[in-house]
Amino acid sequence: MLTLLQHIVQDVAAAPSFREALDLLVRDVNEALGTEVCSVYIRNAEDSGYLFAANEGLNREAVGKSTMRLGEGLVGLVGGRAEPVNLEDAVAHPQYHYMPEVGEEPFHAFLGVPIIHHRRVLGVLVVQQRERRKFDESEEAFLITLSAQLATVIAHAEATGDVQELTNAEHERVDARFEGLAGSPGVAVGSVVVMHPPANLEAVPDRQCENITVELIIFDRAVNSVRNDIRRISEQFSESLPREELALFDVYLHMLDDDALTGDIRDRIRRGQWAQGALKQVIAEHLRRFQDMEDEYLRERASDVRDLGLRVLAYLQDIRAKKVHFPKDTVLVGEDVTPGMLANIPSDHLAGIVSLGGSGNSHVAILARALDIPAVMGAVDVPLYQIEGQRLVVDGHYGEVYTNPSEKLQTQFASLGEEEREFAEELDELKPLKCITRDGYRTLLWVNIGLTGDISRSLDRGAEGIGLFRTEVPFMTQDRFPTEEEQRVLYRGHMEAFEPRPVTMRTLDVGGDKSLSYFPIAEENPFLGWRGIRVTLDHPEIFLAQVRAMIKANAGLDGLLRIMLPMVSSMGEVDDAMDLVKRAYREVVEEGVEVKEPSIGVMVEVPSAVYQSRELARRVDFLAVGSNDLTQYMLAVDRNNPRVAELYQDTHPAVLRALREVARNAHAEGKGIGICGELAGAPIGAVLLMAMGYQVLSMNATNLPKVKWVLRNIKRSDARRMVARVLKMDTAEEISAYMQNELVAAGLGRVVPSHRDHHSNIAVAGG
Ligand code: PEP
Ligand code: MG
Repeated sequence: MLTLLQHIVQDVAAAPSFREALDLLVRDVNEALGTEVCSVYIRNAEDSGYLFAANEGLNREAVGKSTMRLGEGLVGLVGGRAEPVNLEDAVAHPQYHYMPEVGEEPFHAFLGVPIIHHRRVLGVLVVQQRERRKFDESEEAFLITLSAQLATVIAHAEATGDVQELTNAEHERVDARFEGLAGSPGVAVGSVVVMHPPANLEAVPDRQCENITVELIIFDRAVNSVRNDIRRISEQFSESLPREELALFDVYLHMLDDDALTGDIRDRIRRGQWAQGALKQVIAEHLRRFQDMEDEYLRERASDVRDLGLRVLAYLQDIRAKKVHFPKDTVLVGEDVTPGMLANIPSDHLAGIVSLGGSGNSHVAILARALDIPAVMGAVDVPLYQIEGQRLVVDGHYGEVYTNPSEKLQTQFASLGEEEREFAEELDELKPLKCITRDGYRTLLWVNIGLTGDISRSLDRGAEGIGLFRTEVPFMTQDRFPTEEEQRVLYRGHMEAFEPRPVTMRTLDVGGDKSLSYFPIAEENPFLGWRGIRVTLDHPEIFLAQVRAMIKANAGLDGLLRIMLPMVSSMGEVDDAMDLVKRAYREVVEEGVEVKEPSIGVMVEVPSAVYQSRELARRVDFLAVGSNDLTQYMLAVDRNNPRVAELYQDTHPAVLRALREVARNAHAEGKGIGICGELAGAPIGAVLLMAMGYQVLSMNATNLPKVKWVLRNIKRSDARRMVARVLKMDTAEEISAYMQNELVAAGLGRVVPSHRDHHSNIAVAGG
């Protein structure tokens, strides 16, 4: 069954058009289940009924013309219930509705399953048979599984206008709106550049090549490189590997020389497909042929073909990567946009980001906010392979993306962007002013920093210090660990630029969703695994080199260096890390460097640290809450998973109580207390945190002026009243609504975006 399913899904995915995909589907399903009729009904654009969208076995003339009203007939029953209906004799069912134009009288057995995407019924998939019989469980399960996969295809087609085209009627093409998650505020209009993770055959799109000759040369060069690699590896292992294993390399070489594979690929390139697409298509065909083979040995060769395909692809992408052109208004789109991808694009060319995976709490979203680039995350339905080079609108406030935008929509969003820039300019005037509430309470506004480009942006916005230097970011853009001296130079740049302001450097925080290509960590459950301080304590050489570099970077300067430890979950880690920091300091002094001892702090990011915050505060100089991770671990919600993003609430009552607890414990020990999660940069969060007594709010530079504006226009006594109220509330929704109202009532509504009403009449895909 599984193979059958895979074949159908592959056929559908490879079809040149949505119309043909549906035709293939109904044919394949009939063949797989031995049924006589298979139909797909799709909810029409007006949402008034189900269009008879594809069929095999009935009157095909009616395809694209007939529609069942919602709730009408058995199809309506399946759609209304959002559950399968399996009938031995459909004709005898009270809701049976005869459609003469379709001609379905003689079919008794009926099985209909709903096609559901993100809780919405998009259509109904039906099979029918002449004889009276109930479909068995495995047939029902097969159809349900298939319809779950079909749902994504239909959602895409809905958004791209392909569904409307099924009716053959003339339709005005509307802007298609895709819902994702707010990643970084702001709006952008730009041209799409799709980036793919390296060497993933499935992710390669079909595309026409610009120059067939060049494409053939690129392909031959890649094949040659792979051939050389294999020869080299084969020679390298000629002594140590047994002859049978070595023979595998000959098989590879033979496959590369064999015209069956490379010849097919060249043919496709000559017909206009780009090299990567041709490679993907031919490898997929060969794989299917191998997988269908009876002989186990030959079946096994499928993995060799695949491996070979990946090797060639790696070279093709390497060659092409150097040639990617980024227009001035690039909107970077990817299955899973990574921080590393951002680093490849000149920052003044990046207008927006759309990631199909991840959420507003993913590190790439955090970076986007730091860079002031609008971003939408978790936009799972955006048709990645159809939008390369097209115009796209990104709405980072509401987490929405518009493909195929009309001129009107583009103008609307462009002027919205202009308004935002104007508000930002107004806020510029606050730069020299301190962050003091109307009743005289002072809060320090520091910045979270990662890329070197952040320095000037931060100073421009009036940052009074660095509250979090994510030192792993520069590690990510390298292909090996940076040396101590390289690190010293980098850190020195930050210390000097911020002199005499304090600079908080976090020790390397890798693991979780932050990986280094040269230090891979593969784990089932990375966020609960080898992360942050756990990694660096296991690698004291990495930790010591980094801390020494930090300490040396501060030599001869007045600014305070604060070293901060991430992901601490028990006291022993703090003791061990502090010993290492002290040792590093001694070593640096012994080397003759004159430098002050750094202060040391701990990040409160996991629940255990909340409960031990008093003891932690006693041991170190300061505490800083990492509310991004704290929210994730307290609520058991993966911060990157779009499916559960609605459950990720950093104003959840439990999180707020924990935050107050930590602040109280730090105060009780007379130690500094700050926060550097995203909550600190959100107007609502900043008001609550200031009132709780967080002395340092560290945020991305983009949000800083807005937060300063809000805090300067509010009284701490009022904010404390708000804290008292919200701590009595039961849900994050209640808290957000209450705080929004309070901000609007205080005349601070400008920090709450409200442009969505302008364009609510647009087709939505997914949800
Ligand atoms: C946090 O977890 O809140 C934090 C500031 O660290 P990061 O987002 O880098 O994990
Ligand atoms: Mg963290």
